[in-house]
Amino acid sequence: MANIERTPLLQTRLLEMRDRLQVEIEAANAASKSAMALTGGPAQPRMDPQQKALALLAVQKLTNQSRRVAAALDRIAQSSYGVCCECGGEVESGRLDTDPPTPFCAECQVDLDAQKA
Ligand SMILES: [Zn+2]
Repeated sequence: MANIERTPLLQTRLLEMRDRLQVEIEAANAASKSAMALTGGPAQPRMDPQQKALALLAVQKLTNQSRRVAAALDRIAQSSYGVCCECGGEVESGRLDTDPPTPFCAECQVDLDAQKA
């Protein structure tokens, strides 16, 4: 399995992603909170609902990505990293390069995307 040889490098990248996401989540949370606090006064206009939705969406996306990274690190700990969570086949190394936390092989990803659509 080629993926096993590459795991240490990808693990390093995942750990970096985890640290960066933590910082970004904190920043996004702080930004959405301070935006609300700043616009909380009666004389001030309220935060644009669309802007608020975008801020929350950003936090959600980052949190989601952070969960994927944590799950990938768990799989490394359990020696199942690089194995598709759906079919048990090998995840293509190119996919892992592009998106280290990806839990699925290309074929299963297409199927899952089709189900969501
Ligand atoms: Zn698969």
